[in-house]
Amino acid sequence: MNPAEWLARTAALHPEAPALMRGTDLLADYAGFARRAAALGAGLAARGIGPGARVAVFMTNRPEYLLALYGAWYAGAAVVPINAKLHVREAEWIIANAGAQAVLVSDDVGAELHPDVPLRLSVDGAGFAELLTHDPLPGPVPMTGDALAWLFYTSGTTGRPKGVRITAANITAAVLSYLADVDAVHPADAAFYAAPMSHGAGLYNFMHVIRAARHVIPPSGGFEPDEILDLAPRLENLHFFAAPTMVRRLVAAARARGGTGEGIRTIVYGGGPMYLADITEAVEVMGPRFVQIYGQGESPMTITVLPRDLVADRTHPDWRARLASVGRAFSALEVRIAGADGRSLPPGEVGEILVRGPTVMPGYWQDPAATAETLRDGWLRTGDMGAMDEQGFVTLHDRSKDVIISGGTNIYPREVEEALLLHPAVAEVSVVGRRHPDWGEEVVAFVVPEPGHDPDPASLDAHCRDRIARFKRPKHYRFLAELPKNNYGKVLKTDLRRLLEEDA
Ligand code: AMP
Repeated sequence: MNPAEWLARTAALHPEAPALMRGTDLLADYAGFARRAAALGAGLAARGIGPGARVAVFMTNRPEYLLALYGAWYAGAAVVPINAKLHVREAEWIIANAGAQAVLVSDDVGAELHPDVPLRLSVDGAGFAELLTHDPLPGPVPMTGDALAWLFYTSGTTGRPKGVRITAANITAAVLSYLADVDAVHPADAAFYAAPMSHGAGLYNFMHVIRAARHVIPPSGGFEPDEILDLAPRLENLHFFAAPTMVRRLVAAARARGGTGEGIRTIVYGGGPMYLADITEAVEVMGPRFVQIYGQGESPMTITVLPRDLVADRTHPDWRARLASVGRAFSALEVRIAGADGRSLPPGEVGEILVRGPTVMPGYWQDPAATAETLRDGWLRTGDMGAMDEQGFVTLHDRSKDVIISGGTNIYPREVEEALLLHPAVAEVSVVGRRHPDWGEEVVAFVVPEPGHDPDPASLDAHCRDRIARFKRPKHYRFLAELPKNNYGKVLKTDLRRLLEEDA
């Protein structure tokens, strides 16, 4: 079905329910939200955009982002969300690769796009306003389950991004999975868009539309811990997605003001490794507000989940082990750990994480070779290494390409990072392998010191000796003011490896 059906249905039943807000200011109720989306859809349709077309959205977080998404869906087209932090040249590459017929932009990021991009309409200009003057479509153009709805370009820590084809049925499965396994959503709730709406945060709008809850865009348009902590008690029942680095900053801000994050109901964290030391502190400061998800563009926001009670229940004997995991498979999915031959491994053994089920993409956009490599025998090969215990809890190790092989033994950087983060002088750390003539690779740690600290390698080494096997200890330490990260906050290990090669 067309995801815009959810908006049409909610608007019919709860026309006056508050829908779109900027901070505490109400901008539109559900009737207004749906009417504008349907008008936008009509405006796009009048320009020949309908089923089979792609509409790129290159905007910073703002209420119009949701109008753009639903406008495209009303018209029956697919959306191509483009990360607002990309360079315009990168955005142009995506627009061309996707063959987008229209590009909806905000001027802060889209003004510099090449004039040749097709049908550029700005929310800050007359183009978008004109779309909104059309008579609203009577309803969303029907979509079948296999219709392309969301063409998402993977963030990619190497090479060109690939377009992931997410269908209307994939979205439905991901949304129902959230409601079944992550969290309930009530009409009094508010989806808060602190993370980029081009990514998972944007996909979390649907359950809130279904339940007639509010959608709140922070006035800053992004992630500002103090803004969130100020707004939350006034808005109440906030739900949002946060990457682990965002959780760290929020917890630090809450602690500094002696608060616990009052007004925040649920923080869904994921998208990168959450270290045990960080989530333990987060629960200590903010209480039972956290749910972890593990997903990837190819199975959006939906592979495994560690629910709220398991994150927060300190009395359980396996609490720490579970907290260090990414939880168990979503109810709708099969998840297994496979060896190099594709066969399932016994509990506890480390292999590649494979996923099968209704949230998994049908393939990449116009890239049959990459599709064939990633989808084999109906299973999505995530490229993530991990192990599953007897109860189904999955512990994520590293991307297969990040595993360090030293003297023929696998070393999982995450384990070394977890250990180093317990050192009081270490704020952030990333561990990579460096080529070594005798060992194949050796372990190198890049450390960002806590402000005011000056950790020395000897004390870090002593700290590791107390916690991990000797062969896993970093042989070298490098100190950096910050770690190189991509636009979604993922550490760019390729850049770190390149730094080491340059040294050599
Ligand atoms: P993307 O497709 O850009 O969303 O990136 C997905 C990748 O992020 C996954 O394949 C994992 O490597 C990583 N990731 C996602 N969620 C988690 C999580 N909860 N813990 C650790 N890594 C994660």
